[in-house]
Amino acid sequence: MKTNKATSGLLRFLLRIFSIALKMIALLISREVLRYKQAEARTKDLARREAQRRMNEFVSIASHELKTPLTSIKGNIQLMGRRLKTSIDPNIAQSDETRQFLVEARALLERTDQQISRLTHLVNGLLETSRINANTMELFFEICELDKILHEVIQDTRYVPETRTVHIKVPENKSVIVMADANRIKQVIIHYLSNAHKYSAIDHPIIIYLHEEGQMAHISVQDEGPGIPASEQRHIWERFYRVPGIEVLNSSEVGLGLGLHISRTIVEQHHGRVGVQSIPGRGATFWFTLPLLQESLQKL
Ligand code: ADP
Repeated sequence: MKTNKATSGLLRFLLRIFSIALKMIALLISREVLRYKQAEARTKDLARREAQRRMNEFVSIASHELKTPLTSIKGNIQLMGRRLKTSIDPNIAQSDETRQFLVEARALLERTDQQISRLTHLVNGLLETSRINANTMELFFEICELDKILHEVIQDTRYVPETRTVHIKVPENKSVIVMADANRIKQVIIHYLSNAHKYSAIDHPIIIYLHEEGQMAHISVQDEGPGIPASEQRHIWERFYRVPGIEVLNSSEVGLGLGLHISRTIVEQHHGRVGVQSIPGRGATFWFTLPLLQESLQKL
């Protein structure tokens, strides 16, 4: 009887030890699994960062290397164009055939020049992103009147043709003054405006607004294009992001999905903010803000 009790006590004891040992083994295994997963996640993260670094390096080298020959090709084409222009002169004795040849050659050169401009635009975009990644985008701050910059942009038909109606609404009898890199801010406005033109029908107007809001200047570009779904609005500021299904209606420029990313970086480096308001099918309003001059001076 006593022996039975002692044996069952021992068995219970052994069972407890066994279950404790099992729990410890399970704990050890799950700790090892966790460690393995953490190590795997670290390796993946390192690999992702390395891939990102290599891509940035490639983009930087490729865009720098492409820029030099492109500039030289463009220069030569323009020089050649000018020479051809002076050769097509009714006062110079030329056969009809020669004259016809010169006219055709000039037209061909003009088309080549346009293609080179498209290519240069793409390479510049890549160059800008590589500067952003390397933190080497330089800004030259000066006092600027935003209303003047806006007028300069809309008067330049390189950005929007004369056939497009662009209204501009700025405060009357008052300049909106900021401390900014005028060329960079111009670049953002041009980009917003070019997109509005690019993605909306030519017979629909574009409106540019400028006003002061508290301590900030507020600029917005409103179009009547297809608009952008709410789920996509966050992503359009990311590098290389393009919204599927949005068609280019008026431009021969190839988009890489870089312009808004560059614009956001420029504005944020001025301590401003960017954003978009849009209801699909009812157009989009892209905006950005910049601290007014007094606000910038207080921060200095
Ligand atoms: P991209 O050079 O491709 O136009 P962006 O960075 O300027 O690059 O814009 C990213 C994407 O956001 C575009 O590809 C387009 O899908 C969308 N987008 C930008 N502006 C507009 C607009 N005004 N209306 C509709 N979609 C737009």
